[in-house]
Amino acid sequence: MYDFTYQKPASLPDAVKALGTEDAKALAGGMTFIPVLKQRLNKPSVVVDLAKLGLTGITVTGDTVTIGAMTTHETVANSAEVKRAIPGLADLAANIGDKEVRHRGTIGGSLANNDPSACYPSALLALGGTVKTDRRTISADDYFQGMFTTALEPDEVITEVSFPIPQKAAYAKFRNPASRYAMVGVFVAKGPKGVRVAITGAGQNGVFRHAGLEAALAANWSADACKGVSTPADGLNSDIHASAEYRAHLIGVMAGRAVTAAG
Ligand SMILES: Cc1cc2nc3c(=O)[nH]c(=O)nc-3n(C[C@H](O)[C@H](O)[C@H](O)COP(=O)(O)OP(=O)(O)OC[C@H]3O[C@@H](n4cnc5c(N)ncnc54)[C@H](O)[C@@H]3O)c2cc1C
Repeated sequence: MYDFTYQKPASLPDAVKALGTEDAKALAGGMTFIPVLKQRLNKPSVVVDLAKLGLTGITVTGDTVTIGAMTTHETVANSAEVKRAIPGLADLAANIGDKEVRHRGTIGGSLANNDPSACYPSALLALGGTVKTDRRTISADDYFQGMFTTALEPDEVITEVSFPIPQKAAYAKFRNPASRYAMVGVFVAKGPKGVRVAITGAGQNGVFRHAGLEAALAANWSADACKGVSTPADGLNSDIHASAEYRAHLIGVMAGRAVTAAG
């Protein structure tokens, strides 16, 4: 770890100001950021801890679930309101990493990091949610810009994330047995924005929507409909865990399981 200055501001404007310093970085649960610092892969001059900003909590109105950026995966997984409104989202959170990771990791940290194998990006994209920051609201369709890349400015802080409540939605993940990140994860949703299907863990550029599965499920919302949709392996990840062809196959299998879970 390189030396850095640690700050823990008590207000959002102070945090944004601190992040405006050259090379400053935000700290949420630290589940990704601390290992990155330890491995000397990042060298921020200032680390700005977001813990005192009060960005926690879950609100459910008639048609929207809103979750504060610093809300942990464990809190989302156990929220009776989320379980009632979008059970697939609570289930996704309940299957992130292990208990330790779920107690520290936050929804804002996950979406800011945009790991290509992370679970939450697929929920945000499939549900057509929005990311609210200290300065604007960004739709899911504009937010994801590639692997570990988002529309966020370097000094921009996610404050909350909103999801329209769908008629049906669920997530199915073929997890890496060691890390539990998605080798392939598929989030399916049928809601106010139509049928949307988002794939994580498979794409070289991170999370993406699957037009073939969306068309098939819009015509016939059933696990069987997924069987007729093939996914080309071109452009999919191939690594020590799985080949691109295996991931292409898993997309169809996980999509079918997600539709079954959604009902
Ligand atoms: C062993 C292990 C297993 C895991 N398994 C899974 C899994 O199965 N599925 C999954 O989806 N994830 C998994 N994760 C990731 C984990 O769940 C966290 O979501 C992730 O590490 C980031 O969240 P964090 O709160 O820890 O953010 P941090 O590590 O603190 O920050 C990550 C990045 O986001 C930035 N950031 C954080 N909060 C904000 C904000 N509010 N506004 C702007 N920028 C911000 C930071 O500057 C940093 O660049 C795993 C992690 C570990 C260590």
